[in-house]
Amino acid sequence: MKDLQTSDLPFYRPVADECDVFETAHANGLPLLLKGPTGCGKTRFVEHMAARLGLPLHTVACHDDLSAADLIGRYLLKGGETVWVDGPLTRAVREGGICYLDEVVEARKDVTVVLHPLTDDRRRLVMDRTGEELEAPKPFMLVASYNPGYQNILKKLKPSTRQRFISIGFDFPAPEVETPVVMRESRLDEARATALVRLAGKIRALSGMDLEEGVSTRLLIYAATMIARGMAVDRAIEAAIIEPLSDEPDVQQALRDLAAVIY
Ligand code: ADP
Repeated sequence: MKDLQTSDLPFYRPVADECDVFETAHANGLPLLLKGPTGCGKTRFVEHMAARLGLPLHTVACHDDLSAADLIGRYLLKGGETVWVDGPLTRAVREGGICYLDEVVEARKDVTVVLHPLTDDRRRLVMDRTGEELEAPKPFMLVASYNPGYQNILKKLKPSTRQRFISIGFDFPAPEVETPVVMRESRLDEARATALVRLAGKIRALSGMDLEEGVSTRLLIYAATMIARGMAVDRAIEAAIIEPLSDEPDVQQALRDLAAVIY
């Protein structure tokens, strides 16, 4: 592990033993899956761990058009010549770094075919276009995330893929973790950060009923940042929490009522 001061690392406040699980998975060449709602700290966790282990990080935000070629690489025309350009997964394998596939379920099916030989004891990247087969060096690690909360039945991770990963379940942090995170990221004072986190708890209790998903830590930090810069609390909550969470006037009003109880 690189000898880095904690303060040099991207700030991440552990919730449980996730740092140990990550380090053990990495030391043993095991791929890792982070499950949890959007905006709860998964990406920050990976950034923190990559820096802590002194490894280059290649992050890919997966989308429904993302194909195996986007990860592996492709031939491109450059100045009249056709040259091979490595994709982020290939670069991570060659460098012995971390490849983080954010929202992996969104990607096209052919991506799974590439991931399977990389996520078992073969640890091989098969590049069918160039005919190369790379053996992943020891430091290489594959990390993926997905959000089990989405109700899309077509976008579930197949058991045959899930069962190739060590998994950590993430959720929104408990208030004693989330409040200092919100304070640190936004520079908002403790009293007002505590009130926002309390509001988040009330809103999250509604998720699954009127709301598809509860308010993320990310949105709380946005609201806190606006308040810390002098915006009125109700305006900041409207713009950073209520509008992003729902388009339904009834639900928006219910959220305003919750905020009114706290403020
Ligand atoms: P995800 O990848 O789960 O969608 P992010 O990692 O982008 O979410 O988290 C959103 C924001 O929340 C981060 O930018 C960070 O400011 C903050 N955050 C959430 N949890 C933590 C934590 N445990 N420690 C530090 N920051 C956190």
